[in-house]
Amino acid sequence: MTLSPSKPATASAFHGWPGLIERYRAYLPVSAQTPVVTLHEGNTPLIPAPAIAARIGRGVRVWLKYDGLNPTGSFKDRGMTLAISKAKEAGAAAVICASTGNTSAAAAAYARRAGLRAFVLIPEGYVALGKLAQALLYGAEVIAIRGSFDRALAMVRELATQYPVTLVNSVNPYRLEGQKTAAFEIVEALGDAPDWLCIPVGNAGNITAYWMGFNQYHSEGLAARLPRMMGFEAAGSAPIVLGKIVEHPETLATAIRIGNPANWQRALAVQEASGGAFGAVSDEEILDAYRLLAAEEGIFCEPASAASVAGLLKVKDQVPAEARVVCVLTGNGLKDPDSAIKHAEAHFYQGVEPSLAAVAQVMGF
Ligand SMILES: *Cc1c(COP(=O)(O)O)cnc(C)c1O
Repeated sequence: MTLSPSKPATASAFHGWPGLIERYRAYLPVSAQTPVVTLHEGNTPLIPAPAIAARIGRGVRVWLKYDGLNPTGSFKDRGMTLAISKAKEAGAAAVICASTGNTSAAAAAYARRAGLRAFVLIPEGYVALGKLAQALLYGAEVIAIRGSFDRALAMVRELATQYPVTLVNSVNPYRLEGQKTAAFEIVEALGDAPDWLCIPVGNAGNITAYWMGFNQYHSEGLAARLPRMMGFEAAGSAPIVLGKIVEHPETLATAIRIGNPANWQRALAVQEASGGAFGAVSDEEILDAYRLLAAEEGIFCEPASAASVAGLLKVKDQVPAEARVVCVLTGNGLKDPDSAIKHAEAHFYQGVEPSLAAVAQVMGF
């Protein structure tokens, strides 16, 4: 191999992962004029999950799409790189979103990087600590309302029609366009689409986006099959499963604490087209999966993300033998340290004397 020292070190000589928009430019609604606002999101690992597969048996293989490794710690970055780039292209000076936390962190990071103001409405008292910390430090203007996420979403939809602010919730079509790239990455890693895709459902934007992505690669001839789409809601916030709006959604998985999903009809269309299903998992089932993921697979996700694995284990007898299953882990466990400390079944010995004898005794020797 010969090096070419005469080549200038321009951006085009950059050899790392360039971020979603550059990587998937041909499949995204961008042009040469679009200013690309990126934190080099995407390219997250697809990690085998042998401990989960062993609980299912029958030759079923399971992988985890660990989207908590995105720059702000959740899959929301995939949608936000595109939504903010398009907002900047359109000349916006400010963006707004309602958020259970992760959207606000992503919107804040990308908007501020683009030089835009970021307004975020959050349900007071129901946003995990790490997410609030991010939004504040990234420089968003955070407005906590004494109401639910659903109320906050209704308000920002209205505000965006009355004031010069661009809405970047998942009703913004660019969000889903960006998020569909996770399906591309899965197909590239496995060589085809999986048999099943298990995913947590809140506003149902992500399940819709994955389906778009699998279909696009399928129609391009890059995937031979399409997966069954299995969406899982938290039992206390399961409007799609129940077939009616939940006025007072409750679950410790705050990222999916949503009673009236913005993409409800599209989610039903995905279920129908893919032969998939929606299911509800209890907070206990979510916590069991959350602990299993950390203690046996070595993967720390946030509680909402564990709903995909909880759901898979709940319907494990329906998984065909030898099937290939991908569970989406939507957010990083560090987002919600309170839940981890509260629900860990940990061996945590406190106030131990600083002597070898005392420590050895605690160790059981
Ligand atoms: C936003 C979010 C979800 C829900 O995604 P939807 O597109 O609203 O269905 C799930 N998990 C995490 C961690 C999230 O941030």
